[in-house]
Amino acid sequence: MSAPWSALPFQDDGSLQCWMVGLIIGALVLVLAILMAYQRYVAGKKPVQHLCDYCGHMVTAVSDCHHAPVRERFLHGTCMECKQDCRLVCARCKNPL
Ligand SMILES: [Zn+2]
Ligand SMILES: [Zn+2]
Repeated sequence: MSAPWSALPFQDDGSLQCWMVGLIIGALVLVLAILMAYQRYVAGKKPVQHLCDYCGHMVTAVSDCHHAPVRERFLHGTCMECKQDCRLVCARCKNPL
């Protein structure tokens, strides 16, 4: 039986190649899953740093309503104090980020 990968410089052992291809794909998927889990872990643990245009420091964002920590979304966040939608402001100078 001539498999499409018979041109590859491997021995013509279809089952071994199937097994290796499956192993490589499985390893790639596993690495991707670990990377995504690690990114989520880091993003959840470490507060995101923003460069503030006003004071020029790398700062954490706080909510504009209570100056409390926020759960950050894209360009806005959820105030951890009142659980309302809020804007992100600089933790140092309270200017919008
Ligand atoms: Zn600032
Ligand atoms: Zn609030």
